[in-house]
Amino acid sequence: MPVVMSLLNSYAGLAAAATGFVLSNNVLIIAGTLDGFSGFILSILMCRAMNRSMTNVLFGAFGSVAISAASDGQEGAMREVSLEDVAVQLAYANQVVFVPGYGMATAQAQHIVRELADILEKRGVSVKYAIHPVAGRMPGHMNVLLAEANVPYSSLYELEQINPDFPSTDVAVVIGANDVVNPDARDNPNSPIAGMPILEVDRARSVVVLKRGKGKGFSGLENPLFFKPVTGMLYGDAKDSLTKLVQAVQHV
Ligand code: NAP
Repeated sequence: MPVVMSLLNSYAGLAAAATGFVLSNNVLIIAGTLDGFSGFILSILMCRAMNRSMTNVLFGAFGSVAISAASDGQEGAMREVSLEDVAVQLAYANQVVFVPGYGMATAQAQHIVRELADILEKRGVSVKYAIHPVAGRMPGHMNVLLAEANVPYSSLYELEQINPDFPSTDVAVVIGANDVVNPDARDNPNSPIAGMPILEVDRARSVVVLKRGKGKGFSGLENPLFFKPVTGMLYGDAKDSLTKLVQAVQHV
């Protein structure tokens, strides 16, 4: 949907430029052309970040029922972890990586993430934030939210920078992210998202996933990350869970 919106926006710009030619109005021509081309380039970049062609995004029935057979045969159970357990893991970690996604945006949890990061840093824990280019629902969504919470830009790491760091990360905390950490994109060539670059959190020593329940992500696919032995699920609204974690870490 965001790709379609950005494409329609670019058409509006091109239409304005065409009107400018008819009316001999240079302002309309220049502004319309800039709007049209920037919107078009943005749409292409968003498709690239999802490793999909524009045609596939527009007409590919992404997330339809047919895809479930490819990856929904997930076996095993998700392992639930307690708040106290997560607090201890975080308090005694050397390195923690926060991985925000769409759920952090809906929960408006960016400020409390920063608060937790501050507490951990005071304890000597190294804290980083892993930013996937299509996390959330618009380009730069996570950057905007974290900037609003005054997270220093130097703590944000792009996919290519942070992926080599995961094997030496003690705890990766996934905050309402799903598709952008789905290892099927890397491991399952039959997955509809095969080839999409992901944040490889499953390579961290421990993974904690904050989400409300067993809901799927934007793609509608099951996520094998949630069934891995390394992963613990902390259920609840991300903001509530983080607020409780802030309290719990202070008492460790
Ligand atoms: P996602 O795959 O949509 O997953 C979001 C997860 O957040 C859900 O599994 C949901 O699980 C959880 N959640 C929702 N509300 C929550 C809350 N209040 N507290 C805690 N968890 C909550 O998100 P993502 O990993 O960020 O991936 C983004 C997706 O959007 C990708 O598929 C991407 O291709 C697509 N997309 C992005 C853009 C862009 O420009 N950013 C553009 C087009 C498409 P529960 O329901 O169980 O809580």
